Amino acid sequence: MGSHGKEFLARLQSDVLILDGAMGTMLFQAGLAPGSCPELWNDTRPEVLQGVHRAYFDAGSDLVETNSFGGTRLKLKAFGLEERCRELNEKAARLARSVCPSGGYVAGSIGPTGHLPDTFEPLGDTPAELFYESFREQALALAEGGVDLFAVETMMIPDEALLAIKAVKEATGLPVLCSMTFQFNQAKGVDRTMWGTSPADAAEQLMAAGADIVGCNCGDGGPGRVPASLAEMRTATGAFLAAYPNAGIPKMVGDKTVYDLTPEAMAAAYPAILDAGARVVGACCGSTPEHIRAIAAVVRGRKDRR
Ligand SMILES: [Zn+2]
Repeated sequence: MGSHGKEFLARLQSDVLILDGAMGTMLFQAGLAPGSCPELWNDTRPEVLQGVHRAYFDAGSDLVETNSFGGTRLKLKAFGLEERCRELNEKAARLARSVCPSGGYVAGSIGPTGHLPDTFEPLGDTPAELFYESFREQALALAEGGVDLFAVETMMIPDEALLAIKAVKEATGLPVLCSMTFQFNQAKGVDRTMWGTSPADAAEQLMAAGADIVGCNCGDGGPGRVPASLAEMRTATGAFLAAYPNAGIPKMVGDKTVYDLTPEAMAAAYPAILDAGARVVGACCGSTPEHIRAIAAVVRGRKDRR
């Protein structure tokens, strides 16, 4: 397979590489109806996906993520699309690949299934083998479509992340970036997953499962909380770190979640994120190519100084 995943990891030895920004935000702007399946657009609106990927590459992204965050069979089932799992994921990868410039990379996005492993007493509802099979099926289809590596992301419990990492590694052998989502507990001043895992504990478990890059994305702390989470992860691992926070702290306005950091305000948080050791930086919910352009300018400014 012509994957450039190994080359991507090799470049991180000496370089900071730039990930893309939000996909959902861009698709809603393009008219995706709330509550509908974003992955279906890989079939019905391919030109929109190519446009979003191209806009991020043009803004300075070295790496973009496929439109497959909810592409597991377990997640597609909610839309009655589970039998199209292979097709929708392969198309997601081909669309990103089709606009990827030379020297650019494509990561297969793999998000949570919306279920809990039954090892998770007493709330678990799905056998661990089903998670594994579901992640494996998605990973094989994304690899078939030509991804260079995987981004297992926005994970809220290590149990699910570990199954995803194992499934992806065993099915494809490609590099895996695994990113957890932390909530900021203001009363205690600490960042934890929704189920109470610390960044250090998470990093240790993800690395033991075979992740090549670990980090944090999304969450309700905004970019300001990222340095603390990365510093904690650093106590547990010497691995490459990734960070792609939301464009600010989510607020509800009516029935809509809004993110209010402008590209400039967002970029102002990145010197501290780079100081904390991030080697892959991007942005999550609420961000646009303009946010990535501003973040890329910060990263470039540092390289020039060096
Ligand atoms: Zn997000």
